[in-house]
Amino acid sequence: MNLRNGKIGIIDLSTGESSEEDFAGDVLTEGVPRELLEKHGPDSIVLGTGLLTGSLIPASCVGTLTTGRHTMPILGHAGIELKLTGFDFLVLKGKASNWGYIWIRDGIMEFVEMPESPQLNSWQRTEKIRSDQGDSKIQVLSGGPWCDAGSPAAQLVVDHWGGEDKVGMGAEFGKRNLAAVAFRGMGELEVADPEAHFEKSVALMRGHLSRLALNKGLQSYYEGAAVDDFVSLAHRYIGCYGCPYPCRSYLKTEEDPKEMRLMHKEPGYLHYDIPALEMATKVGLSPRDATRVLVRCARAGAEPVAVMAAALASSAHPDVVSIDALLARHDDIRPASKGNFELSFPALKDYETCLGLGLCPRYWAKVGFDIGAISSCAESALGHKLM
Ligand code: SF4
Repeated sequence: MNLRNGKIGIIDLSTGESSEEDFAGDVLTEGVPRELLEKHGPDSIVLGTGLLTGSLIPASCVGTLTTGRHTMPILGHAGIELKLTGFDFLVLKGKASNWGYIWIRDGIMEFVEMPESPQLNSWQRTEKIRSDQGDSKIQVLSGGPWCDAGSPAAQLVVDHWGGEDKVGMGAEFGKRNLAAVAFRGMGELEVADPEAHFEKSVALMRGHLSRLALNKGLQSYYEGAAVDDFVSLAHRYIGCYGCPYPCRSYLKTEEDPKEMRLMHKEPGYLHYDIPALEMATKVGLSPRDATRVLVRCARAGAEPVAVMAAALASSAHPDVVSIDALLARHDDIRPASKGNFELSFPALKDYETCLGLGLCPRYWAKVGFDIGAISSCAESALGHKLM
């Protein structure tokens, strides 16, 4: 089957037992996570990949995490790595009796105990898992102390960075004694006509770029990133898998942004969380302090919009120190009701179709969500029409 592995993995956290089901979905499968929740129980967590995730279609980088109340995208290189583990979808059931993480690779999934995880923040968990498994390229979807505490404003972070989880999905990990989900994709995907798929995808990408201005990272998507104090901290722009027009700006706050070596252990942050930067501006934080706050929120596994809104409610002039103090308390504060990327399109249906296809909603909202052009590229990969 082209662009699919034909396999769903299931693991029961309460026993550590895993099993597999065949998956025959090489058509648009946006409803599959909900069907899996119905089949395996509404308290399950479903990780998934889109139909075109890992193709050559621009920004085909998206994976998803679905619970009974929400679906969030998983961006960066995590979506494509998830697909290359050998599974199209993964179902996590039950609650583990001890703290640990799910480790997925080469068509295998297992629960690995990590009893020290409640003492580790999200960045330390990511680093420990990569070190223990001996591979710095492992993708880690990690919780932090706020997730462990089941805070409504908990935030899952993807490889250190936050922006995907705006509705407290991190608390779903904490409830299950799940410190993280880690995966590494070393598999391969087949496509029907590689040459035609390559040529059509490159032509599609060139058409997009010819209509867009020179890329300036997050500034190309959010005018608040064009202010001098933000631009002066920019170190580089980083795209997710297959994204020719990235929205991700890496800022350095603790060392010279022009220094290409990373001399400091925690020099800065990868910004793509537009609502968080908007809230930081409202709170009165400079881009440098906003970056420091987002680092702290990511490590704590706390959603920064909710954290800064709570800080503003208790002080007219919150700063890094007062927000740090708030982060140490795991306050019962409420998260936003909508996600960062969910706001990309006026119509929710387009957003959901984008996720089902495995395409980044932010990129495709920018270039125009042209399902006809996507279908033409997809047919060369799938070997049949898209829908
Ligand atoms: S627009 Fe941003 S989030 Fe979307 S694929 Fe590109 S870099 Fe990733």
